[in-house]
Amino acid sequence: MKKILVTGGAGFIGSHLCERLLNDGNDVICLDNFFTGSKQNILHLLDSRYFELVRHDVIDPYKAEVDEIYNLACPASPIHYQYNAIKTVKTSVMGAINMLGLAKRLNAKILQASTSEVYGDPSVHPQEESYWGNVNPIGERACYDEGKRIAETLFMSYHRQNHVKIKIIRIFNTYGPRMQPDDGRVVSNFIVQALSNKPITIYGDGSQTRSFQYVDDLIEGMVRTMATPDDFTGPVNIGNPGEFTIKQLAEKIIGMTGSRSEIIYKPLPSDDPVRRRPDISLAQKNLDWQPMVNLEQGLAKTIAYFEDYLKHNK
Ligand code: NAD
Ligand code: UDP
Repeated sequence: MKKILVTGGAGFIGSHLCERLLNDGNDVICLDNFFTGSKQNILHLLDSRYFELVRHDVIDPYKAEVDEIYNLACPASPIHYQYNAIKTVKTSVMGAINMLGLAKRLNAKILQASTSEVYGDPSVHPQEESYWGNVNPIGERACYDEGKRIAETLFMSYHRQNHVKIKIIRIFNTYGPRMQPDDGRVVSNFIVQALSNKPITIYGDGSQTRSFQYVDDLIEGMVRTMATPDDFTGPVNIGNPGEFTIKQLAEKIIGMTGSRSEIIYKPLPSDDPVRRRPDISLAQKNLDWQPMVNLEQGLAKTIAYFEDYLKHNK
C-alpha cells in the first residue's frame, strides 16, 4: 500500500483524484486550506480509514512520510486566482518549494499540476510541449500563469540539481461534477445559467476557442503519468483535442438542457487567450493515454450533477 499526499485534495480535481487513489488501494492524505475547496467534496471519503484530511496551507512547510505527492494546491478559476494575486503567486512558488523539499527528503515521486496557461495566448496551434508560450508577465492573469511557470522551473531545477523524481503535467480546461457553481469558469457558469433560465454570459464575441476535457480522463492521465519510469519527467499535455468556440459551447448547453436562456455578450477579460488546443502525441506515446469522453457525454454527466445540486441547494 502506497502513502500518497494530495495537496489541494478538497478541490474539484483533487477530490476526484483522492477518490481514485483510495479506490486503487492507497493510503491518502488530503491537504487543503479550503480556499476554493470544501469538505463537501470529500465528505464521502471521510469514513475510509485510509483517508486523512489535513487543514494546512502549502505556503508553510509540511511534513509527513509519503511515497508520492500530487501537488494541486492553487485556485484555478480566474476570479479566484485574481482575488488575491500575491497569495496565488505564493501558493504556486512557495507551495512548490515546500513540496519539492519534502519529496527530496523522502526520495518520493512528485507530480505538479501545471496548466495550458503556461502557453499564454499561444502563437503556435495546436500547442505542443516544446512551445515556450506567450505570457504577459504583468497582466491580470500573470499571478497564475507566471506562478505556474516558475513552479515548472523549480521542478526541473530540483530534478537536475537534486535528482528529485518529478512529473509535470499541463492540464487543459477540465470540467465535471464538483466544480463550484459560482466559481466563474465557463462550463459551470453556462450550465447553471441554462438550468435557471438566466441569460448565458458570453465574454467577447464568443469566437475564442477552448478544448474541454472531462475530469475522469484527466484523472486517468494523472495516475498514468505518476506511474511512468523515473526518466520521464514531462512536461506532458493532458487535454482533449476537441476544440470548440465559446459560442458553440453555449449553444450546445442550451440545446442539451432545453433552456429558455438568451445569450448576452459581456466585455472580454484582458489577456483572454484566443485559441487553445492540446497536441497530445506525447501523452499518447508515453502514457498510452487519450481522452475517452467526448464533450456531449461529459456535459450530460455535468448537467445531471448541477440539476441535482440546484435541487438540493435552493
Ligand atoms: P480548485 O480551486 O477546485 O482546487 C484547488 C484546491 O487547492 C482547492 O481545494 C483549494 O482550497 C486548494 N488551495 C488553494 N490554495 C491553497 C493553499 N495555499 N494551501 C492549500 N490548499 C490550497 O481547482 P481545480 O480545478 O481542482 O484545480 C486543481 C489544480 O489543477 C490547480 O493547481 C490548477 O491550477 C490545476 N489546473 C486545473 C485546470 C482546470 O481546468 N480545472 C486546468 C489547468 C490546471
Ligand atoms: N467565458 C465566458 N463566459 C463566462 C465565463 C467564461 O464567455 O461566463 C469565457 C472566457 O472569457 C474564456 C473561456 O470562456 O474565453 C474560458 O474561460 P474559463 O474561465 O473557464 O477558463 P480559461 O480562460 O482559464 O481557459
